Amino acid sequence: MASRLFVATTSQGKLADFREAAEEYQLAIDPIPALRTIPAPPEEGATFAANAISKAIYYSNFAPGEVVIADDSGLEVDALHGAPGVRSARFAADSGLTDSPDANDNTDVWNNIVLLQKLEGISADRRTARYRCVLAAARDGELLLTAEGVVEGQILEAPHGTGGFGYDPLFYLPELDQTMADLDISVKFAISHRGLAFAALLPQLPS
Ligand code: IMP
Repeated sequence: MASRLFVATTSQGKLADFREAAEEYQLAIDPIPALRTIPAPPEEGATFAANAISKAIYYSNFAPGEVVIADDSGLEVDALHGAPGVRSARFAADSGLTDSPDANDNTDVWNNIVLLQKLEGISADRRTARYRCVLAAARDGELLLTAEGVVEGQILEAPHGTGGFGYDPLFYLPELDQTMADLDISVKFAISHRGLAFAALLPQLPS
């Protein structure tokens, strides 16, 4: 197995998740060098897998000889017929809610507001949802493998907890009686969609 993996993400939340895993596997995880200067490819796939694969292949061309991992992930809400799904990061923007250019990035806040609005009046037993993550690994423009992780939960009527990112304060885990945002990062990674996908991917990576 490689001793270093490049991850094609600038999301601090995702990087923190991956780095937590790196400790257990004694693996260094870094964003691709100069990732912010690389034009982002369009994310137009209909599935998490399609997006993760195209991102991994694309970004691996910018780190010759290295294994590059790309993640595509999001939230699927049953009462919304699986939405926001692959549109999770752009859920509020799809409803026309965006920051003014000079504002701090409030995308997560807007996304959570839109989610709560769309679920207004829907009872707790019908607020079932899951996070899904597909990881793809590629090297020199060739796909090596993919892995998927899923975690089931429910969408609360109000946020709870200060950790995590994205939809975490609204994502309730009945078995733990906590939201994702309540969890210590080591616990989050052990049970989360990204952690499960990572654990499935790592043993299969080439050395
Ligand atoms: P993408 O994979 O970068 O296209 O975006 C995934 C989006 O799904 C994020 O912007 C979040 O809104 C949401 N998401 C994915 N994984 C998580 C997670 O672990 N916690 C909270 N939100 C997540």
